[in-house]
Amino acid sequence: MTRPCPDPDDFIADLRREFPGFRIVPKRGDHLSRLIDVVLRALTLGGQRHYMTRYHTVIGNTLYVPDSWAGMSACDKVILLRHERIHLIQRRRLTFVGMAAWYLLAWFPIGLAYGRARLEWEAYTETLRAIAEYRGLPAARDLQLRAQIIRRFTGPDYAWMWPFPASVGRWYDAALADLAQEITTGRSRLPAPARSNQ
Ligand SMILES: [Zn+2]
Repeated sequence: MTRPCPDPDDFIADLRREFPGFRIVPKRGDHLSRLIDVVLRALTLGGQRHYMTRYHTVIGNTLYVPDSWAGMSACDKVILLRHERIHLIQRRRLTFVGMAAWYLLAWFPIGLAYGRARLEWEAYTETLRAIAEYRGLPAARDLQLRAQIIRRFTGPDYAWMWPFPASVGRWYDAALADLAQEITTGRSRLPAPARSNQ
């Protein structure tokens, strides 16, 4: 059972109602993004070279988008926005300073950023939920997707934030089991979509 992907513009309008001031800014041409890119390349010794071209980043109420945003399909944009919405909720929950500390200080020591990994995990669980809702549970169970997301946590993309594939694999499989149950019982344990929060 799947449901149609909402239009990204409608989803963004809902996000603006939920988080007034929410905006989308291209990283290219943005000074702050350029600075972060330089720092990340240095910290990861060049391991993270794709900050400007592939990664979406939420800071405050702003989603900074890479070059790849423009070429994404409408449904991929919505799936991505659902992930980023979780970071906006986390920021509201932890406050900006708390979130920044939990997220950024967690880069040190690089390779053992448990706090950051748990925040990202919460958001990736929503990514899987969105994929299951719009494309079906088998799409969320895709093994290539599993390998790709585990690599995000264990590799240079996020500075080796939690370099234990077996542990991330367990989170992943538990989330998929929860999702399957959620879909069969119709009950969610995680934040509701933006629309129903109003
Ligand atoms: Zn994220």
